[in-house]
Amino acid sequence: MKTIGLIGGMSWESSAEYYRLLNELVRERLGGLHSARCVLYSVDFAEIERLQVAGQWEEAGEVLARAGKGVEAAGADLVLICTNTMHKVAEQVQAALSVPLLHLADATAEAVLRGGVRRVGLLGTAFTMEQDFYRERLASHGLDVLVPDAEGRALVHRVIYEELCLGVVHEESRVGYQNVIEDLVREGAEGVILGCTEIELLIGQEHSPVPVFPTTRLHAEAAVAAALDLNS
Ligand code: GLU
Repeated sequence: MKTIGLIGGMSWESSAEYYRLLNELVRERLGGLHSARCVLYSVDFAEIERLQVAGQWEEAGEVLARAGKGVEAAGADLVLICTNTMHKVAEQVQAALSVPLLHLADATAEAVLRGGVRRVGLLGTAFTMEQDFYRERLASHGLDVLVPDAEGRALVHRVIYEELCLGVVHEESRVGYQNVIEDLVREGAEGVILGCTEIELLIGQEHSPVPVFPTTRLHAEAAVAAALDLNS
């Protein structure tokens, strides 16, 4: 089994999910007392969020590149950035590593295509929904990506930073997200990417009329497949 390196803490609420999912998925595959070989470097999210808001992506990339080198030095054979948003600096992080970075948008796009969906809604932070780095990576796999309108995007973004990253789950916000998903479906979305690693704490398949693609789970599944060489 290969060792999975996690660059986490963005937020730790979702890093805890990654840790649980990796271990559950390895146990499902190997049985008994088997668990995931992994190394986690967890950053201080307040520092990262400040750099995001200031648009200092290069500096944020340096913090994550240092974290990536840390997990590589600790034995990681492959590395995950445990957030969709910070894939904005994925190339900078990969350039600092000599082991592969398993890109979250690639793992997600492959799952969406396997699900028979081409026109897909995307929920995430404003950075993920509004900038090119993530949507273009999905589009490079042949997906047609829809994002919510300005009001919907503002709601989805606010709930991520003011609630989900703090471990707060409000029913009212779930209803708000469901309305945003319904709007996307009316626009033609055949599925919805939960493109922020905390959204699956709020929204499950039961809350959507079309298939949802939970990125934390999909990323963890891809990592376990790579660590156990299930694709070869
Ligand atoms: N975990 C979130 C994501 O997947 C948001 C936190 C962040 O800005 O990194 O995008």
